[in-house]
Formats: sequence, structure tokens, C-alpha cells
Amino acid sequence: MAQTHQLPAQGQADHQGFKLLSGRTIPRVGLGTWKSGSKASDAVSTAIIEAGYRHVDTASQYGIEKEVGQGLRAAMKAGIERKDLFITSKLWCTDLSADRVRVALKNTLQDLQLDYLDLYLIHWPFRLKGGAHKPPEAGEVLDFDMEGVWREMEQLVKDGLVRDIGVCNFTLKKLDKLLQIAQTKPSVCQMEMHPGWRNDKMLEACKKNGIQVTAYSPLGSQDHGRDLIHDLTVTKVANKLNKTQGQILVKWALQRGTSVIPKSTNAERIGENMQVFGFEIPEEDFRALSSIRDQRRVVDGEDLFVNKSHGPYRSTADLWDNED
Ligand code: NDP
Repeated sequence: MAQTHQLPAQGQADHQGFKLLSGRTIPRVGLGTWKSGSKASDAVSTAIIEAGYRHVDTASQYGIEKEVGQGLRAAMKAGIERKDLFITSKLWCTDLSADRVRVALKNTLQDLQLDYLDLYLIHWPFRLKGGAHKPPEAGEVLDFDMEGVWREMEQLVKDGLVRDIGVCNFTLKKLDKLLQIAQTKPSVCQMEMHPGWRNDKMLEACKKNGIQVTAYSPLGSQDHGRDLIHDLTVTKVANKLNKTQGQILVKWALQRGTSVIPKSTNAERIGENMQVFGFEIPEEDFRALSSIRDQRRVVDGEDLFVNKSHGPYRSTADLWDNED
């Protein structure tokens, strides 16, 4: 825990957040909370109070919003003001219909013990029937009324319940459709991005439209994920710069202009992942990291949305509009 007390270069120019279309700012580094389980509360309060995080990313689907809320409460009791925090949550697929948006948000706010969110995201662009199986059975993946849902998201902003709105796991095709119907453009698009899945096409499209990208699973995720921590190129750059592999992966995301949300429930690694300011990955090393050949997603949505015999999505290629 020694280094977590050393607050990250607050006030340094490179610690400032990224400006959103709304004029607000998203912090560069946030805490991911997927699979944090019962450790979520301590992770959140440690990240905020000791390591200087101001952004926490969560979702109703993670089943830990109450724990995250307790962590936020603890941080506020310790003197951190709500206005200085940036809290993101997501609308789950079983609530992906116009009549469910507000109800879902209200439940999230209640669990988090908050009266507004800084950012509310569509978690996946696919609607699921309540109680859907993994993988889904026939008829459990339903049509998604993008326009109806987005209008409700926009209304949440107008009503002050949410400051910014955005999407996750979109394709170029879906983003294009959204931009045509949106009165309020998405501020943020949250996508899997790391040196093993650069997803340059989505990054470019978002940049062109002024949409901030947040990189999720920046360390390659866990369990079924990809071990980027022991990747040879990542390790070589880390050794050269006298940083940890985690710091190199977080910094790579920042140098691409994406905000980034590494998950950890370990106090030391929470601190480590925030100690990414005051140095740069030199051009040649950045290029080496951006040239890893084996490009593939870790979080491809197959278990949630693909039904090989009945569809409507019969493969992951279908889910991603055959754009990969
Ligand atoms: P990450 O890429 O952040 O990796 C997390 C794993 O890395 C954990 O096993 C963690 O273990 C370990 N770890 C953390 N820091 C270090 C370090 N410095 N060195 C070595 N190992 C480390 O995975 P996630 O998939 O969790 O992605 C991050 C966040 O993005 C999620 O938690 C969630 O908030 C969001 N997300 C959003 C999605 C979406 O659909 N919108 C999908 C997936 C993720 P330990 O905890 O023990 O440190």
C-alpha cells in the first residue's frame, strides 16, 4: 500500500481529463468493477481516498451496485465531494426498451445511493428477455428500438438525472444509425481496447465525431481473458521504462487518447494503475505495442447473444455486423 498514499500528480497537465461533447470532463483513468464481487466497496473507497481515482465504472449487470454505493459513501464521508466524482453505470439488455430506461436508472441510482449519474451507457446493443439463458434460447434475444431508447436516455439528461449518455459495444454501422437519430450525440463510446485488440476503426470513427472512447479490459481482462501482463512486447517496454506491465498497458490507452478503466480489487495494483503520469511511452515502443499481430476480442458477447441454430445472431461475426 505504500505507493497509494503518494497521490498521483494532481494538477499536472497530463492528469487532466478528456473533454466531452457536453463540455464536461471524464477523468483519464477510472476504476473498473466487473467481477469485483464483495470486494467492490473496499476497492472503490481505496481507489478514491488513497489512490486519487475520481471515476468509477460499474453496471447493474455486475450485481454490485450496492457495494459500489457503500464505497462511494465511505469516500464522501472521508471528505471527497460528489461533484468531484465521475460515476458511470450502464443500462442492461433486459431493460433495453423505451419503457424500462427510467425505471432501470432509478434502481441504479438507489443502489448507488446517488441522485444523478455522470454517465449512463447502453451496455450492449441487444435486447434480452428477462431470465434469458447463457447461451440464449430461441426467442430470448429481441429487437432493440434504438430510437425509442435513445429518446429516453436524452430525456434523462434533460431531467438532470444523468449528465452524459453514451454506448458500449457498438459497431460502425450502429454508431452511424445512432448519429442519424440522436438529438443529443453520445458523449462516450466504451469499447474493448488493448494492444491485443486495437479496434482502430471504431476509435477513428469516434474521434471523427468528437465522441470520447473509454477503453475497457485494458489489461486483457481476467479468467477467460488474455494474458497481456506477460506479453513479451509489453514486458520488454515495461522493463525498459522501469514501469510495471499494468502501467504500460494503461499508458498505451491514454496515449491513444482514450480514457481507461482498469479493474482491480487489490490495493497495491489499484495504486499502481493510477501511477501513469509524468512519463511517456517513446514513439518506437508505442509503435511496437501497436503492432502486436494476434488481434482478437476477449469480450465478444457470444455467450450472451449468439444462438447458433435459431439466431437472430448465429455467430459473433453477426453480432459485430461482420465488421471485423
Ligand atoms: P482488466 O483488463 O481491467 O483486467 C482486470 C484483471 O487484471 C484482474 O484480474 C485484475 O486482478 C488484474 N490486474 C489489475 N491490475 C493489474 C496490474 N497492475 N498487474 C497485473 N494484473 C492486474 O479487465 P476488465 O475486463 O475487468 O475490464 C476493466 C473494466 O472495464 C471492467 O471492470 C468494467 O468496469 C469495464 N468493462 C466494460 C464492459 C462493457 O461491456 N462495457 C465489458 C468489460 C469490462 P486484481 O483485481 O486481483 O488486481
